[in-house]
Amino acid sequence: MAGTHEKPVRVRMAPSPTGHLHLGTARTALFNWLFARQRGGVFVLRIEDTDVERSKKEYEEEILEGLAWLGITWDEGPDVGGPYGPYRQSERKEIYKRYLAQLLEKKEAYYCYCTKEELEAEKQALAAQGLPPKYGGRCRDLAAAPAGRTPQVIRFKVPEVKVEFHDLIRGKVSFDAGLFGDIVIAKDLDNPLYNFAVVVDDGLMEITHVIRAEDHISNTPKQILIRCALGFSEPLYAHIPLILNPDRSKMSKRFADTALLDYRNTGYLSEAMMNFLAFLGWHPREDEDILAPADLISRFDLERVQKAGAVFDQEKMNWLNREYLKKLDDENLAEALVPFFRAAGLPDDVRRIRPAVAAVRSRAEKLSDVPVSARFFFELPPYEPSLLVWKKAAPATVAPALARARAAIATVPDADFKREALSAAIGGVVDPASRGEVLWPLRVALSGQATSPDPVDIMGVLGKEESLRRIDLAVAAASGLA
Ligand code: GLU
Ligand code: ZN
Repeated sequence: MAGTHEKPVRVRMAPSPTGHLHLGTARTALFNWLFARQRGGVFVLRIEDTDVERSKKEYEEEILEGLAWLGITWDEGPDVGGPYGPYRQSERKEIYKRYLAQLLEKKEAYYCYCTKEELEAEKQALAAQGLPPKYGGRCRDLAAAPAGRTPQVIRFKVPEVKVEFHDLIRGKVSFDAGLFGDIVIAKDLDNPLYNFAVVVDDGLMEITHVIRAEDHISNTPKQILIRCALGFSEPLYAHIPLILNPDRSKMSKRFADTALLDYRNTGYLSEAMMNFLAFLGWHPREDEDILAPADLISRFDLERVQKAGAVFDQEKMNWLNREYLKKLDDENLAEALVPFFRAAGLPDDVRRIRPAVAAVRSRAEKLSDVPVSARFFFELPPYEPSLLVWKKAAPATVAPALARARAAIATVPDADFKREALSAAIGGVVDPASRGEVLWPLRVALSGQATSPDPVDIMGVLGKEESLRRIDLAVAAASGLA
C-alpha cells in the first residue's frame, strides 16, 4: 500500500514526432497511463520535437489521434485556454536555455570548438589503437575562446564515476561513465539535445517514475549525471522490454504492421488493441486473457513486467479482436462498421448494414472482413452456372429443384419472410435424404458464392422480392445446364 510519505505519482510519455506512431510507443504510453490511473497519479504527454529536421506536425497529430483512439488521456499541459496541451519541447526553448546557461556558468558545461574533421581524426586515431570513440576533452578547461574559432556544440563535463541505479524491472544497473567522454548536450543555447531537454523536463515536471523502452537504458546514466548537476530530485526508472518479431529480431514491418493506426484502419477494436498491448511484456497474476481498461488499471503492476523481449503474436491479436467483436451487439457492431462499409463502396446506412451484419458476423476477425463477406447482400456477384450443381446431383436436377423451392418460398407472405416460416416452407420441398439437392443451388442462387450463411438467413436479409429475383436468375442460368 502506498504510504502517506510517498509522493503522488507523476509519469510522462515523451514521443518524438519523427515517424508513424509505433506499437511500441503506444505500449509505452499505455504502461504509463495504467500506472498513473491505478495510483491516482498524473500522466503527462510531452512531444519531444527538438529535432527540427525530423519532427513533423502530421506525426504529432498521429500520436494524438492514436492515443485518443485507444482512450488514453493526459492530465496536464500548457494552458492554451482550452483542452490541455500537450507539452511541446519546441515551446520550451527559453527554459532549456536558462538551464544551459546555468551549467555553463557553473563550469559544468562548456563550449567545444572542435570541428567535425578534428573529431573524426580523433576517432580514427583511437580506432587505430583498437579503442572505442570518446571525446578527449580538448576544450574542457579552456580559459577563453580560441582565436578565430567558432563554438560548435555545448558539452557536459562527465565525471569519471560509476553510475548505478535500481531499475524497477531490471534490478541493479551500472555503467562506467568514464567511457562516455564529455557528451554533447546542445548544439547551442537555443538547440538543446534529447539527453539534456529530457532531464530539465522530467525535473521541472516532477516526474516520479520514468517508464520507457529498454533502448533508453544507456541514456539513463547520462541523464542521471546531468540531473545531479542541475539539482533535480531523482525519479525511479522502469525500462520496459522491446517488442520482437516471432524470430526475436526487433519488431519490423517484415512480420506485421508496426503503426498503431494501421490496426484501427483494418478494423481492430481499440479495447482489443489496448488489451493486446498491455500483454506485450506484462501479465496479470491470475490466468486472465481478456481484460477491459478498468481491469487493466486495477491489475497492472510494474514489478510484473518481464525483462525479456515481448514477442508480437498476430494470432493472439486476432483472437482477442474476435472476442471483443463478440461483445458488441448487432447495433453497435453496425455502427462501428459504417466507415468500413463506406470505404468498401457499400451502403453506409446503419439500418441497411445491421441485418447483413447479423448474418455474417460470426466469421469476422476484424471489421474490414465484414463488408467483404456481406457484399453479396448488396450486389449479387456473377457466378458460373456450374456452381449451382450440388456435388451429388445431376446438372439436370438443378432447375427443377430451384423451381420447387421458389414455389414454396413464394407462398410465404412478406410479413413472415424470416427464418421460421421460410424453413417450414422449404422443409416441404426438401428430401431429407438429399438436402443438398435443393439447399445447395438455393444458397448459390441467393449469394452467388460457394460459401455463405444459411439460405433462410440470407433471404431474411434480402427480403422476398430480391430473393425471388435471384432465384429466377438462377433458374434461367440452370436451364442451360445438361
Ligand atoms: N523522445 C524519446 C523517444 O521517443 C523519449 C525517451 C524517453 O522517454 O525518455 O524515444
Ligand atoms: Zn572540443
